[in-house]
Amino acid sequence: MNKTVLITGASRGIGRAAAAAFAQNGYDVAVNYNKSAEAAETLCTELSRYGVKVKSFSADVADKSAVNEMVRKIEGDLGKISVLVNNAGIAEQALFSDITEEMWDRMFAVNVKGAYNCTQAVLPHMIHNKYGRIINISSMWGISGASCEVHYSASKAALIGFTKALAKETGLSGITVNCIAPGVIATEMNGHLSEEIMDELKNETPLNRIGTPEDIAEAIMFLASDKASFITGQVLSVDGGFIV
Ligand code: NAP
Repeated sequence: MNKTVLITGASRGIGRAAAAAFAQNGYDVAVNYNKSAEAAETLCTELSRYGVKVKSFSADVADKSAVNEMVRKIEGDLGKISVLVNNAGIAEQALFSDITEEMWDRMFAVNVKGAYNCTQAVLPHMIHNKYGRIINISSMWGISGASCEVHYSASKAALIGFTKALAKETGLSGITVNCIAPGVIATEMNGHLSEEIMDELKNETPLNRIGTPEDIAEAIMFLASDKASFITGQVLSVDGGFIV
C-alpha cells in the first residue's frame, strides 16, 4: 500500500503541523495551499530532510475543477492518495444579523464544499483499493455553537454530519471517516483575538492551556494509523476538556 497523504490547508497552522507529523512517519505528503505559496514551499524544503516526497499543490478547495486538477497532479507526482485530511478552513466573527449572503456562501464553500470536493476526488481510488482514511477537521464550536460565529459553527456541524454519513457508506470498502473537533489552538486563525480573550479561553479550558497545532497533528496521525482501524464515524474532541 502506498502511503501518500493529501492535507488541505497545510501551508500554515494545524495543517502544517500535520504535514510534519506525516513526513516524520514516512508518508509522502501533498501540501495543499490557497494563497501562502512561499510558506508551502518552505515547508516542503524543511520536510524533505525526512527522506520522503513532499510537494506543494495550489488549489482553492472550494473550486471543484481546481481540486480535480490538483488531485490529478498529486497522483502523477506522488502516487494515489490513501489518506485525506480535510483541514482547510476559514473563520469569521460577526453578529448573525450582519452575516451577508456572500459571507455565508464563502464559509460553506470552503469549509463544507471543500471537503466534498476533495473527498469526491480521492474516493474512487480508495474504494478500488479497499483502503482509505479520511479525517475531517471540524471544531468544538460545531458541537456546542459559538456566539457571533453562526455560519462558522453551522459549517463545522455540517462536517460532523458529513463524517457520520460517509463512514456508514464507505465502511464496507475498508475506508474509515472520522472527525476531530479542536478546541482553542494557537494559530493565525486566532491571531486577531486579544491577549485578554486568549487568557479567558485558557481559563475556561480544564487543562488550563491553549492547544498547539501539534496536539491536533498527533490525533490526526492516530486516526490515520492502523491503531485506529476499528474507529469510524467518530468525533474526537481535542480541546483540553473545553467541551465535556
Ligand atoms: P489557519 O492558521 O488560518 O490556516 C488555515 C489554512 O487553511 C491555511 O493553510 C490556508 O491556506 C488554508 N486555506 C484557507 N482557505 C483555503 C482554501 N479556500 N483553499 C485551500 N486552503 C485554504 O487555521 P488553523 O487554525 O490551522 O485551522 C485549520 C483547521 O482547523 C480549520 O478548518 C479550522 O476551522 C480548524 N480549527 C481551528 C481551530 C483553532 O483554534 N485554530 C479550532 C477549531 C478548528 P493559505 O494560507 O494558503 O490560503
